[in-house]
Amino acid sequence: MSTPQNSSPLPSIDQAGQGHWPLPDDGMGRLWVPHRMVYIKGENKPADTGESTCPFCGLDPADSTDDVDRLLVHRGRTCFVILNLYPYNSGHLMVLPYRHVAAYIDLTAEETAELADLTKTAIRTLTAVYGPQGFNLGINQGDIAGAGIGAHLHQHIVPRWQGDANFLPIVGHTKALPELLGDTRDRLAAAWPGATTPKDEN
Ligand SMILES: [Zn+2]
Repeated sequence: MSTPQNSSPLPSIDQAGQGHWPLPDDGMGRLWVPHRMVYIKGENKPADTGESTCPFCGLDPADSTDDVDRLLVHRGRTCFVILNLYPYNSGHLMVLPYRHVAAYIDLTAEETAELADLTKTAIRTLTAVYGPQGFNLGINQGDIAGAGIGAHLHQHIVPRWQGDANFLPIVGHTKALPELLGDTRDRLAAAWPGATTPKDEN
Protein backbone atom coordinates (compact mmCIF):
# COMPACT_ATOMS: atom_id res chain seq x y z
CA MET A 1 0.00 0.00 0.00
CA SER A 2 1.33 3.45 -0.87
CA THR A 3 1.68 6.29 1.58
CA PRO A 4 -1.29 8.65 1.69
CA GLN A 5 -0.68 11.74 -0.44
CA ASN A 6 -2.48 14.09 1.88
CA SER A 7 -3.23 13.24 5.45
CA SER A 8 -4.76 16.60 6.34
CA PRO A 9 -8.18 16.20 7.98
CA LEU A 10 -9.29 19.58 6.63
CA PRO A 11 -11.28 19.97 3.41
CA SER A 12 -9.48 21.62 0.51
CA ILE A 13 -10.73 23.85 -2.30
CA ASP A 14 -10.08 22.76 -5.86
CA GLN A 15 -9.62 25.06 -8.87
CA ALA A 16 -13.35 25.15 -9.54
CA GLY A 17 -13.92 26.47 -6.06
CA GLN A 18 -15.51 23.26 -4.85
CA GLY A 19 -14.65 22.20 -1.36
CA HIS A 20 -13.90 18.55 -0.89
CA TRP A 21 -12.26 16.20 1.53
CA PRO A 22 -8.85 15.00 0.43
CA LEU A 23 -8.87 11.29 -0.24
CA PRO A 24 -5.85 9.30 0.86
CA ASP A 25 -4.30 7.09 -1.78
CA ASP A 26 -4.96 3.92 0.19
CA GLY A 27 -5.53 1.64 -2.78
CA MET A 28 -9.23 1.41 -2.03
CA GLY A 29 -11.74 2.06 -4.80
CA ARG A 30 -14.82 3.99 -3.74
CA LEU A 31 -18.28 4.37 -5.17
CA TRP A 32 -20.47 7.24 -4.09
CA VAL A 33 -24.18 6.52 -3.99
CA PRO A 34 -26.07 9.81 -3.64
CA HIS A 35 -29.43 8.13 -4.29
CA ARG A 36 -29.20 6.64 -0.83
CA MET A 37 -29.38 10.12 0.65
CA VAL A 38 -33.01 10.43 -0.41
CA TYR A 39 -33.74 7.57 1.95
CA ILE A 40 -31.30 8.57 4.67
CA LYS A 41 -32.59 12.14 4.67
CA GLY A 42 -35.96 10.75 5.26
CA GLU A 43 -38.79 10.58 2.80
CA ASN A 44 -41.75 9.27 4.76
CA LYS A 45 -39.74 9.59 7.93
CA PRO A 46 -41.89 10.06 11.05
CA ALA A 47 -41.92 13.50 12.61
CA ASP A 48 -40.84 12.21 16.01
CA THR A 49 -39.51 9.07 17.65
CA GLY A 50 -42.74 8.03 19.35
CA GLU A 51 -44.77 4.91 18.78
CA SER A 52 -47.81 6.80 17.47
CA THR A 53 -45.99 7.93 14.33
CA CYS A 54 -43.78 4.86 13.91
CA PRO A 55 -44.50 2.96 10.67
CA PHE A 56 -43.34 -0.30 12.30
CA CYS A 57 -45.74 -0.05 15.24
CA GLY A 58 -49.45 -0.60 15.57
CA LEU A 59 -49.64 -4.16 14.28
CA ASP A 60 -52.55 -6.05 15.76
CA PRO A 61 -51.14 -9.50 16.47
CA ALA A 62 -54.56 -11.03 15.89
CA ASP A 63 -55.34 -9.26 12.62
CA SER A 64 -53.34 -10.13 9.53
CA THR A 65 -55.75 -8.67 6.96
CA ASP A 66 -53.40 -5.77 6.16
CA ASP A 67 -50.32 -7.92 5.81
CA VAL A 68 -50.35 -7.73 2.01
CA ASP A 69 -50.56 -3.93 1.97
CA ARG A 70 -47.94 -3.70 4.69
CA LEU A 71 -45.62 -5.98 2.67
CA LEU A 72 -45.46 -8.16 5.77
CA VAL A 73 -43.99 -11.59 5.02
CA HIS A 74 -44.14 -13.41 8.35
CA ARG A 75 -45.37 -12.86 11.91
CA GLY A 76 -43.48 -14.45 14.77
CA ARG A 77 -44.19 -14.34 18.49
CA THR A 78 -42.09 -11.30 19.36
CA CYS A 79 -40.70 -10.26 15.96
CA PHE A 80 -41.94 -10.06 12.38
CA VAL A 81 -40.51 -9.96 8.87
CA ILE A 82 -41.35 -7.27 6.35
CA LEU A 83 -40.10 -6.09 2.96
CA ASN A 84 -38.13 -2.87 2.90
CA LEU A 85 -40.08 -0.13 1.12
CA TYR A 86 -36.78 1.36 -0.08
CA PRO A 87 -34.91 -1.78 -1.09
CA TYR A 88 -31.28 -2.04 -2.06
CA ASN A 89 -32.20 -5.14 -4.00
CA SER A 90 -35.22 -7.29 -4.74
CA GLY A 91 -36.02 -9.36 -1.68
CA HIS A 92 -34.55 -6.84 0.78
CA LEU A 93 -36.16 -7.95 4.04
CA MET A 94 -36.16 -6.58 7.55
CA VAL A 95 -36.66 -8.46 10.81
CA LEU A 96 -37.84 -6.39 13.75
CA PRO A 97 -39.49 -6.67 17.15
CA TYR A 98 -43.15 -5.73 17.54
CA ARG A 99 -42.03 -3.67 20.50
CA HIS A 100 -40.93 -0.07 19.84
CA VAL A 101 -37.29 -0.37 20.91
CA ALA A 102 -34.30 1.50 19.49
CA ALA A 103 -31.26 -0.25 20.93
CA TYR A 104 -30.14 -3.81 20.33
CA ILE A 105 -29.04 -4.21 23.94
CA ASP A 106 -32.58 -3.41 25.07
CA LEU A 107 -34.10 -6.42 23.31
CA THR A 108 -35.36 -9.13 25.64
CA ALA A 109 -33.74 -12.55 25.49
CA GLU A 110 -36.75 -13.88 23.61
CA GLU A 111 -36.69 -11.02 21.10
CA THR A 112 -32.95 -11.47 20.57
CA ALA A 113 -33.37 -15.18 19.93
CA GLU A 114 -36.33 -14.79 17.59
CA LEU A 115 -34.67 -11.97 15.66
CA ALA A 116 -31.78 -14.35 15.01
CA ASP A 117 -34.05 -17.29 14.16
CA LEU A 118 -36.16 -15.25 11.75
CA THR A 119 -33.01 -13.90 10.12
CA LYS A 120 -31.90 -17.49 9.45
CA THR A 121 -35.31 -18.44 8.08
CA ALA A 122 -35.34 -15.32 5.90
CA ILE A 123 -31.99 -16.33 4.43
CA ARG A 124 -33.24 -19.86 3.78
CA THR A 125 -36.47 -18.59 2.18
CA LEU A 126 -34.71 -16.01 0.01
CA THR A 127 -32.24 -18.68 -1.06
CA ALA A 128 -35.04 -21.07 -2.00
CA VAL A 129 -36.99 -18.45 -3.96
CA TYR A 130 -34.29 -16.27 -5.54
CA GLY A 131 -31.01 -18.15 -5.19
CA PRO A 132 -28.81 -15.19 -4.28
CA GLN A 133 -25.08 -15.74 -4.12
CA GLY A 134 -24.56 -13.83 -0.88
CA PHE A 135 -26.19 -11.60 1.72
CA ASN A 136 -25.54 -8.38 3.54
CA LEU A 137 -26.88 -8.52 7.10
CA GLY A 138 -26.88 -5.58 9.42
CA ILE A 139 -28.44 -3.19 11.88
CA ASN A 140 -27.99 0.55 11.60
CA GLN A 141 -28.62 1.60 15.17
CA GLY A 142 -29.50 5.27 15.42
CA ASP A 143 -30.07 7.97 12.83
CA ILE A 144 -26.37 8.84 12.76
CA ALA A 145 -25.58 5.26 11.73
CA GLY A 146 -27.95 5.51 8.77
CA ALA A 147 -31.13 4.09 10.24
CA GLY A 148 -34.18 5.23 8.27
CA ILE A 149 -36.40 4.71 11.31
CA GLY A 150 -33.93 4.95 14.15
CA ALA A 151 -36.50 4.72 16.92
CA HIS A 152 -37.50 1.16 16.01
CA LEU A 153 -34.68 -1.33 15.63
CA HIS A 154 -34.65 -3.37 12.41
CA GLN A 155 -32.24 -5.92 11.02
CA HIS A 156 -31.62 -5.72 7.26
CA ILE A 157 -31.25 -8.81 5.12
CA VAL A 158 -30.13 -7.89 1.61
CA PRO A 159 -29.67 -10.65 -0.96
CA ARG A 160 -26.75 -10.11 -3.34
CA TRP A 161 -26.05 -11.33 -6.85
CA GLN A 162 -23.00 -11.06 -9.00
CA GLY A 163 -23.12 -7.73 -10.82
CA ASP A 164 -26.07 -6.32 -8.89
CA ALA A 165 -24.16 -3.18 -7.91
CA ASN A 166 -23.73 -1.84 -11.42
CA PHE A 167 -23.38 1.67 -12.81
CA LEU A 168 -27.09 2.45 -12.94
CA PRO A 169 -27.58 3.76 -9.40
CA ILE A 170 -24.47 5.90 -9.77
CA VAL A 171 -25.17 7.40 -13.19
CA GLY A 172 -28.93 7.40 -13.30
CA HIS A 173 -29.81 7.70 -9.62
CA THR A 174 -32.01 4.72 -10.31
CA LYS A 175 -31.93 1.29 -8.76
CA ALA A 176 -32.96 -1.52 -11.07
CA LEU A 177 -35.45 -3.74 -9.27
CA PRO A 178 -36.79 -6.45 -11.53
CA GLU A 179 -39.84 -7.35 -9.44
CA LEU A 180 -42.64 -5.33 -7.87
CA LEU A 181 -42.67 -5.28 -4.08
CA GLY A 182 -46.11 -6.85 -3.81
CA ASP A 183 -45.06 -9.76 -6.00
CA THR A 184 -41.92 -10.27 -3.95
CA ARG A 185 -43.96 -10.28 -0.75
CA ASP A 186 -46.37 -12.87 -2.12
CA ARG A 187 -43.59 -15.17 -3.26
CA LEU A 188 -41.71 -14.98 0.04
CA ALA A 189 -44.83 -15.25 2.19
CA ALA A 190 -45.90 -18.35 0.28
CA ALA A 191 -42.45 -19.92 0.52
CA TRP A 192 -41.98 -19.16 4.24
CA PRO A 193 -41.98 -22.40 6.28
CA GLY A 194 -45.46 -22.91 7.75
CA ALA A 195 -46.72 -19.88 5.87
CA THR A 196 -49.81 -18.40 7.51
CA THR A 197 -50.01 -14.90 6.03
CA PRO A 198 -52.71 -14.33 3.42
CA LYS A 199 -51.92 -14.24 -0.26
CA ASP A 200 -52.96 -11.24 -2.34
CA GLU A 201 -56.15 -12.30 -4.08
CA ASN A 202 -56.05 -9.39 -6.53
ZN1 LIG B 1 -42.11 1.48 16.43
